[in-house]
Amino acid sequence: MSVDTCLFCQLVQGEDHLRKDDGFVAVPDINPQAEIHILIVPERHVDTFRDIAEFTATESKRMLEFIAETAAQLHIEDYKVLCNVGQGGGQTVFHLHWHLLSGPSMSRHIPAVALAEADE
Ligand code: 5GP
Ligand code: ZN
Repeated sequence: MSVDTCLFCQLVQGEDHLRKDDGFVAVPDINPQAEIHILIVPERHVDTFRDIAEFTATESKRMLEFIAETAAQLHIEDYKVLCNVGQGGGQTVFHLHWHLLSGPSMSRHIPAVALAEADE
């Protein structure tokens, strides 16, 4: 996928960022699934989390710090961090990104077994 055709390669070039630092951006999700739903997107394109080895250890650490910093700066204390991996994992945009989800609807503990049962 090229920078010209990738939706999130375009998104990271845009202006609608909550924050942008060290090669990462935070933007509100266009179709929020929680009271607070923010996307954390690296500027550098890799298709999915499967390709995380393409990032250096420093970049990977910075990305995780950036997620935590974004939450802290927005005074979001309790939240979920989610990464859908591949079509079968619910991924729809094939440029690595993380969902930062918070609010009353996100307070429930979701054991893996509950996720499996939800689809039955
Ligand atoms: P995925 O399903 O790949 O894990 O997540 C893709 C996310 O990107 C979805 O939550 C979807 O609502 C969001 N999204 C899709 N297009 C746009 C867009 O143009 N702008 C923003 N801010 N979010 C988008
Ligand atoms: Zn991209």
